Amino acid sequence: MSGVLLACALTWIGACAPKPEKKETVGGEVRRWEFPEGVVFEADFPRARLSECRAMEGGKYEVIVRPENTPINDSPWFAFKISAQKPMAVVVHLTCEGGTLRYRPKISTDGVQWVTLPAECYDQATQGKEAELKLEVGPQPLWVAAQEPVSTLEMWGWARTLERLPYVAVSEYGGSLKGQKLCRIDIGDPGAARHISVIGRQHPPETTGSLALMRFVEEICGDSETARKFRGEFHVAVMPLVNPDGVDAGNWRHSLGRTDLNRDWGPFKQPETRATSAQIAALAKSGRLYLHLDFHSTFHDVFYTQPDDEPASPELFAARWLEGLQKRVPDYKVNREASRSPRPTTSAYWAHHTFGIPGITYEIGDNTDRAQLKQVAAAAAQEMMELMLKVKDEPPKEPPAGGSEGK
Ligand SMILES: [Zn+2]
Repeated sequence: MSGVLLACALTWIGACAPKPEKKETVGGEVRRWEFPEGVVFEADFPRARLSECRAMEGGKYEVIVRPENTPINDSPWFAFKISAQKPMAVVVHLTCEGGTLRYRPKISTDGVQWVTLPAECYDQATQGKEAELKLEVGPQPLWVAAQEPVSTLEMWGWARTLERLPYVAVSEYGGSLKGQKLCRIDIGDPGAARHISVIGRQHPPETTGSLALMRFVEEICGDSETARKFRGEFHVAVMPLVNPDGVDAGNWRHSLGRTDLNRDWGPFKQPETRATSAQIAALAKSGRLYLHLDFHSTFHDVFYTQPDDEPASPELFAARWLEGLQKRVPDYKVNREASRSPRPTTSAYWAHHTFGIPGITYEIGDNTDRAQLKQVAAAAAQEMMELMLKVKDEPPKEPPAGGSEGK
C-alpha cells in the first residue's frame, strides 16, 4: 500500500470512529464536553442537568440524563448549552436513564426567551426513553431545556420587584439543606387577623406551576377594586420556592435530601418542609387561616380539593370558588378532582387536617398555553378574593382528625 493510500485509509477510519473529547470537571463532575469538530456541551449553570455526553457514529452526539436518586417520579428534567466554532446542524440523541421523556424540549439563545422545538426538529422513540433533536448551532451557545426554567435567581428577582410595592414585604425564613434561605412574600398587613398561605415549587421541574403562582400573586398585588379591598382585610403569606436546592441542581423531583418534599408533610424530616409548615402554623396561631394553596404542574390542568361533604371552613369553599372561576373563564374547562383521602403527607392534606381549612393543590399542565395559564390564574385570584370577602365572617369549624402541628 502506498503512503498516500495508507494515509487515506487512516483518515477514513478516523472519520468513522467516535472521536475522543476533552472534558472539564467541577467538583468532581464533568460539566463541559468539547469535541474535536468544535462542538461544545456545557452544564455549568444552575438548573443544568446533563449526566454524560459522547460522540456517536454518524456525527451524532448522545446526551444522557439521569435522576438525582431512585426510586423517583417519572419527570426527567434536562438542561444544557451547546455551541460550535462555526454554524452547523447537530443531531443530539437524548437518552433518559430511569425515566420516560415527559417534556418537549425548549430552546433559547439568551436563557430568557424560549421556543418549543417543533415536530420537524424532534423525534421521540415510541417507548419515550430516547429522542433525537435536530439543532442549528453556532458560536453563540444555544440553551436546551425540558421547560423554560424559572430559576432561584428569577424567583428572588420577582419577589424583590414586588417588594417595591408599598404593601409587600419580602423576608427570608428557615434554610434549605444546602443552607439557602427560603423566600417569603407578605402581601397586606402580617398583623391582620385573617391569613391565607400560598406555596410553590416543591418539585423542581414544575415551572408552569411557578408561572401560575406568579400571576396569581400579582393579581392579589394588583390595582383592581377587589384586590385593594381584599388587602385591607386579609394578609397573604407566599412561599414561592420551597425547594431551591432541587431547582438549582436541575433535579427531577427531589430536594437535596433525596426526598419528595410533598410527601414529607407529617414526617417533616426535611428542613424545607419543617420551616415552611412552621410559617403556616404561626399564621394560624396569630389569627385565622382561611385557605392553603400549593402550586404544581402535571399532565393537565386540575384543582385537587377535598370533597364537598368533608367539613371545612369556609364551608364549600372549593365548590364555590371553582364554580365562580368557571363563570369568569367560560371558554376554559375548570377541572376539579375531589378526593377524600389523598396522600396524607402532602401540604394540602396537612393544612386541611391540621387547621380545618380548604387545602387545595393547584396543578397546571406541562403544555398548557402560557398566556392561558396566566389568564386563568388572574381570574382564579380575583374569584378567591371576592369569595373571601363574602365568607370572612362565617364561623370556623373544628379541624377533622389526622392533622399535626407544623414543626
Ligand atoms: Zn408537583
